Amino acid sequence: MAPNDGDDDEHDAIRRSVREFVEREILPICDDLDNRDQEIPLPVIARMAELGYFGLIFPPEYGGMGLDTVAMAIVTEELSRGWLSVGSVMTRMLITGSLIMAAGTEEQKRRWLPKIASGELLTAAAFTEPDVGSDTAAMKLRAEKHGDRYLLTGEKTWCTFANRAHVLTVLARTNPTVKPKHKGLSILLVEKTPGDGFSPPELGGSPIPTIGYKGMRSYALQFDGYPCPVENLLGGEEGKGFYQLMATYEYARIQTAARAVGTAQAAFEAARKYSQERVQFDQPIASFQVIRHKLAHAATEIEAARRLTYYAAQMKDTGKRCDLEAGMAKVFAAEMAERVTSEMLQVFGGYGYSREYPAQRFWRDARVFRIFEGTSEIQYEVIARRLLGGK
Ligand SMILES: Cc1cc2nc3c(=O)[nH]c(=O)nc-3n(C[C@H](O)[C@H](O)[C@H](O)COP(=O)(O)OP(=O)(O)OC[C@H]3O[C@@H](n4cnc5c(N)ncnc54)[C@H](O)[C@@H]3O)c2cc1C
Repeated sequence: MAPNDGDDDEHDAIRRSVREFVEREILPICDDLDNRDQEIPLPVIARMAELGYFGLIFPPEYGGMGLDTVAMAIVTEELSRGWLSVGSVMTRMLITGSLIMAAGTEEQKRRWLPKIASGELLTAAAFTEPDVGSDTAAMKLRAEKHGDRYLLTGEKTWCTFANRAHVLTVLARTNPTVKPKHKGLSILLVEKTPGDGFSPPELGGSPIPTIGYKGMRSYALQFDGYPCPVENLLGGEEGKGFYQLMATYEYARIQTAARAVGTAQAAFEAARKYSQERVQFDQPIASFQVIRHKLAHAATEIEAARRLTYYAAQMKDTGKRCDLEAGMAKVFAAEMAERVTSEMLQVFGGYGYSREYPAQRFWRDARVFRIFEGTSEIQYEVIARRLLGGK
């Protein structure tokens, strides 16, 4: 079964073209790189930019492809079916780009979007802090205005791709006294020079060792008076950062759900193949009912998550509010991916635990979905609030 054939011709064509890219350029290299803890090669990132993946949903007048959210989900899913890190590179550009599309001034759209779409500017999202994760309104990193620039002081953490980025999308506190505190936050597009060295003492960075998600590095960052021109304040108005970020969560959550679907699909396909080749008790293990049912159950769960993801994407494309559906898709797909990749690893027996096969990579990668882009606990809280009311 090829997943979701027959959505429509345009979406099927997009899926096929991404699949070809993944089969030609990602699958031959990803296991070796992942096992050696190496990042995605820069030429691969340049190729993704060339194929238009970074500006998929930007309007053509800003250098994008003007595709819909369903197309974005399909591209993400297929890239993640190859290697989650590859599907996740485009998340950075999507987050920054969707923030600029939704909240940027006309000048900011013209200045930044074409360069992000073309890959000339790579971006990273710097929201989380060492002391503040889920409680976005409580972010502390300070941006103090001095003449025509802000000086940033404080810490961010888990900033994935920070080393390679030319622009950090930073959630910063421009007003430390206003109440409620979320009204004191702003988003700044902070330029930097790409590279592992950063520019201490104003901007220091060190990578955080992780169990998965190997093709990109996540960084702890220290800002000490790092400058950012005032014209890089998103929307040109202070105090809007929290609202700007919330407004783009729908895209980010749909995209994360698609990443989870792609990772689970890869695990399923690997386990199906292995089950037809591995012989025990003189027969392929795929002939044992328990293995057959594991595969059938996985395929069913993946398809359910996929359809919920596309449904949320379709709602986004009609312009309707879809935070509920996007949150449901994200939490369901995240939990599905953890279950499915674990069960698919089980199909491999001992080989599932070995680096010789990618089953362990899918499982290590899938564990992150319940954590980033809003933890599962926070997603359920958001969903419950929509269903039951309350703050
Ligand atoms: C591999 C990886 C990559 C990441 N990349 C980025 C990135 O590029 N940019 C970025 O800004 N961040 C990134 N993050 C950070 C990620 O978004 C945060 O880890 C996440 O938001 C959770 O924040 P926290 O880790 O501080 O956990 P905390 O907020 O401290 O939560 C700890 C636990 O408490 C629970 N909890 C917290 N509050 C509540 C509540 N109100 N009700 C119920 N339970 C609650 C949480 O669900 C969790 O289980 C990344 C994280 C990882 C692991």
